[in-house]
Order: sequence, then structure tokens, then C-alpha cells
Amino acid sequence: MKNRITLSDLKAALSNREFELHYQPKVSMVTGRLCGAEALVRWRKNSGQLVPPMDFIPLAEETNFITEITRYVFGKIVVDYAFINSVDSSLTISFNASGRDFYNENLTRLIVDAVNGRLIEAGSIEIEVTETVLVEEKSARRYLDELSNCGISIAMDDFGTGHSGLVELSKWPFSILKIDKKFIWGMTSSDKDREILQASIRMAHQLNMDVVAEGIEDEETFRVLQEYGCKIGQGFWISKPLPLQEFITFIKKFVNLPAMPIGLLYMAQLDHIQWKKTLIDTALFLHGSGENRPLENVRGCPQLDHTRCKLGLWYYGEGVTFRDLPGYSQLEQPHRELHRIGNELLQAARGGCALEELSLLIQKLSEKSIRVLESLQLLENYLHVNDRYLPAPAAVESVGR
Ligand code: C2E
Ligand code: MG
Ligand code: MG
Repeated sequence: MKNRITLSDLKAALSNREFELHYQPKVSMVTGRLCGAEALVRWRKNSGQLVPPMDFIPLAEETNFITEITRYVFGKIVVDYAFINSVDSSLTISFNASGRDFYNENLTRLIVDAVNGRLIEAGSIEIEVTETVLVEEKSARRYLDELSNCGISIAMDDFGTGHSGLVELSKWPFSILKIDKKFIWGMTSSDKDREILQASIRMAHQLNMDVVAEGIEDEETFRVLQEYGCKIGQGFWISKPLPLQEFITFIKKFVNLPAMPIGLLYMAQLDHIQWKKTLIDTALFLHGSGENRPLENVRGCPQLDHTRCKLGLWYYGEGVTFRDLPGYSQLEQPHRELHRIGNELLQAARGGCALEELSLLIQKLSEKSIRVLESLQLLENYLHVNDRYLPAPAAVESVGR
């Protein structure tokens, strides 16, 4: 029978510095490049035996000793990061925090001080928190907001396993959705799991969150997730968690994975359809209500600036990956015109125009919309028919992370 781990074992392990960090690489599915790693704690006993976190984290959480472990983990990350950063300065390191770490201000102060003291950049760290632990404490909100405002990304870890994922998602300042590995594994055997996974990726996109999929154990899963529009991948197929030195070697030897951002194209099409529907709904509402209020005061009014709507953000951002492919350059003009007509339509509707004018403008809007969709589909067909895997272009290195 296994010896039960006690709190005093954990205390002794910490004071003997027996906890170490292993780094599990993460890859951008948009560019195929390495984009970061998750720091995972392990307990290396004097005997050399490596104890996995699930054997001692639950006890550490129950006894509140987790806060000591997290402080230690963060301190170690700061030291390791200097080394990692000297090899590749574009990588982001995430670490796991427990809800208990946010019962008081200690961890938040430690992190904010490290950022202010320039020991680590805010944009280079991410905190992974599980949804369930957070429901316990209201003050967590204040600290997570502070960290988020300071430029640190907060990820909802283990999404898909909790009971109140959606409620928590809307309550906390998460900018990353990390889908649990069990959910990723379920995708191959269950149609429903696959549908839920796709819908979760879409939902995260609509909420302007990046999606990380963990537990990718084979190439097929990697490709399918890319097609769904998932942005970041982590799993044994890419690499198991590695001790620091091995992680550094991994960074140096890493060869980019295939980048096939077809999932982003699919998202762009859905974004456009949704934008158009919201615009027409808003026009009909304004026309029907007879109110002539300024558009800024109309709830749910779609973004009218063509560079700031979701499609525009994609086009001038991640979409640049496609700039040399057919369809990309044809998209800009109709998209600009679409916005011009959209604007005209809303102004006419709020001015109480005649129904004929409204219907004519909706018709014009639809014509431009068809041209936008045609261009996007031209791009999509090209990727399907030609070599579907694009090399990661140097110019968009930072895109996707
Ligand atoms: P997590 O945060 O969800 O971390 C991901 C876990 O999934 C890691 O297990 C990782 O090794 C494993 N994993 C990733 N890809 C694959 C894959 O393709 N196949 C398989 N079979 N497993 C994969 P690990 O390191 O055993 O950590 C387990 C959990 O322990 C973590 O889950 C996290 O909740 C907790 N944990 C780890 N380090 C810390 C820490 O420093 N602080 C706290 N509070 N919790 C930690
Ligand atoms: Mg995690
Ligand atoms: Mg997880």
C-alpha cells in the first residue's frame, strides 16, 4: 500500500526545495510555431522518485498549503523565464493557480511586484485557474481583475469538466479558454462531444478569447482542431512536459508544425453572416420603433468601422497569413462598401425612410455580402484543393498569440 502523503511531508519537501517545474510546450495552430509552455509542478523525492501533482495538489489545496507551493512555483518561473527568454523571447509561460491563491492579496502582490520590478513581462505570463475553485471566494474577482488589468492573461483551465462553466465564463476576466483533455479525447468517439467542442471554440471566438486544446496525442487530433479554429495546442504529440534544460533544447531544435488556419476562414465567414444579420435586425428595429436616437445609444448595434468589425480585425490581423492567396485582395473592396451601405441603411432607418428605400438598401447590402463570402470561399477552396498547409510566414510571427 502507498504511504499516505501528509502536510508535514509537503512542508519538508518545500523547505528542502524538492519541487521542480516541468514545461509542456504549446504551439500556435495559426502559424505552426512554438508559442509557449505550461509550467507543471513535480515533487522529486530524495530517492529520485518523481511524484505527480495529482498525488499532492489536492491535499495542498485542502490544507491551504497550496498558496506556499504557488509562491514557490511563481518564484521559480521568474528565474527560469530569464533563461527561456534569452533563447526565445516570444514565448509565454503559463502556470496553475488555485482559487485559494486569491483568497487574499499575497499572490497578486507578488506577481504585480515582479512585473513592476521588470523581473518578468506581464504579456509573457498566463495564469490558469479552474472554474470550480473560484466559486468559493468573491474577493478572487478583485485580484483577478487587477492581474488582468495589468496585462496578464487569465485562462479558464479544464473547461468542459465543471458544472458551471458558462456562468463562470461570463463572471471572470478570462481571456483564454483551455479545453480539458478528456473533452478532446471524447471528440473521436462521440459526435455530440465533437459538436460541443466546435460550439465551444466558436463561443470563445465570439467572446474574443483564445482557445487552447490540451491532450493532443496524435496528428489527426491536431489537424481536426486546426480545422475547427482552435488557436493553440498542447499535448504529448507535440511534447510531454520537460525539465527546464530539456525544454531549452526543445526550443532550439523545434521545427514548425503545419499551419493550416482554415478554421479561421470558417470563423470569418460566420462572423460576417452574423454581422450582416445583426445589422439588418438593427435597421428593422430602428425603422419599426420610429425613434431617431443616435446609433451609439442603440444596444447591440454592430461595429460600423470596417477595420474594427470581427471580419476586419481578422482581415488586417491573422488573415494576413492569406495575403498572397486568391480571394484575399478581392475581399477588401466589397467589405469596405458593405460597411458604407450598412451605415447608410442604419441612418435611413433611424430617419424613418420609406419601406422601398429600406428594402433597396438591404438588397444592395446582400449583394456586397455575397461578394465578401465569395472571396472567403475562394480562399477556402484554394486551401482545400492546393497544398492545405501553409508555411508560417515570418511577417505574421506574432499573429495567433
Ligand atoms: P492541468 O493544469 O490541466 O495540466 C495539464 C495536465 O495534462 C498535465 O498533467 C499534463 O501533463 C497533462 N497532459 C497534457 N497533454 C497530455 C496528453 O496529450 N496526454 C495525457 N495523457 N496527458 C496530457 P500533470 O502535470 O500531471 O498535472 C495534472 C494537474 O495538476 C494539472 O492539470 C493541474 O491541475 C495540477 N497542477 C500541476 N502543476 C500545478 C501547480 O503548479 N499548481 C497547481 N495549483 N496545480 C498544478
Ligand atoms: Mg493547467
Ligand atoms: Mg487542464
